[in-house]
Amino acid sequence: MTTLPATVFEKIIAGQLPADIVYKDDRVTAFRDIHPRAPTHILIVPNKVIATTDDIADGDEALIGHLVTVARDLARQEGIAKNGYRLIINCREHGGQEVYHLHIHLLGGRPLGPMVTDSPAGA
Ligand code: 5GP
Repeated sequence: MTTLPATVFEKIIAGQLPADIVYKDDRVTAFRDIHPRAPTHILIVPNKVIATTDDIADGDEALIGHLVTVARDLARQEGIAKNGYRLIINCREHGGQEVYHLHIHLLGGRPLGPMVTDSPAGA
């Protein structure tokens, strides 16, 4: 069996790599993105390794729901809930995923523009 190298997020969850952690419990860790694209840019990550949304098991439903309610609470805590925000999950190459440990991006604090950059070739 091949053991994949730990991602940076695994190291952050294990306390082996520094990060600005804003929330942690037994299932989820949330920390500020090292390269923020908005005034608030937080990553909400399951403590157990799920590489992509395609790797979510049916039994993970409660965990995925917990990630979203943590994102909701952090948006309120950051003071961005009233004006609104965006939650993003990128999956694999076409989704632009860089770190293969499932995470929700919580972005807000300014108008975020179109959901997807238009392609000259169309949809
Ligand atoms: P993805 O493209 O996989 O959806 O997003 C990965 C995110 O992780 C990127 O926004 C990137 O800036 C962030 N990131 C990558 N390495 C680190 C790190 O070591 N620490 C933190 N806090 N964020 C990271």
